[in-house]
Amino acid sequence: MKRPWYLSRCLEMYEETFVLLKPDALERRLVGKIIQRFEESGLDILDIRYFSRVDSNLIRKHYPDSMARDLGVKAHNAMKNILDIEAHGMLVLERLRRYVMRGPVIALKIGGEDAIRTVRRIVGYTDPLLAEKGTIRGDFGIDSLKKSTEEGRACENLVHASGNEEEAKRELALWFPENSY
Ligand code: ADP
Repeated sequence: MKRPWYLSRCLEMYEETFVLLKPDALERRLVGKIIQRFEESGLDILDIRYFSRVDSNLIRKHYPDSMARDLGVKAHNAMKNILDIEAHGMLVLERLRRYVMRGPVIALKIGGEDAIRTVRRIVGYTDPLLAEKGTIRGDFGIDSLKKSTEEGRACENLVHASGNEEEAKRELALWFPENSY
């Protein structure tokens, strides 16, 4: 992985990761505050791209059908009354795609020491109601898994961040295809 020339610090575990500011981050005018959290933690914004709309092909690649089971399990753990895990996971996945496609989003390429784990820590847990204070979702989030399920929609939690190295590579290539990874 090529390191930008201006990163003069000696980094033992330099990584690059992908972050997506979801439509609620833009609607609520939280873009600056969210990006500031990453910069304050010593991470670098290496690329940024505004999408006025995400097309369904891109969103299906970003959130593939194979995610459905994990989504179903997470929902089942949060709300015990979910019986058909697979079917519920698919429902959450469709709601999630609709949510991210409803308005403009911003894609970020972020680099730095242990960037993948650091970004996930800054972002916080999926459910804003349970996310730790001091994290983006914990401080700015106003939704919850329970409320969104009751209202038949995806949980709005402002940001997506890659979960591991493989995901980061795949997502960076998907959202910044002009760069070679
Ligand atoms: P994370 O974004 O924290 O990595 P997941 O990959 O499990 O979480 O889920 C992707 C996104 O789907 C979440 O950020 C959230 O917007 C939405 N989501 C996940 N689980 C649920 C659920 N049970 N009900 C509603 N929305 C959900």
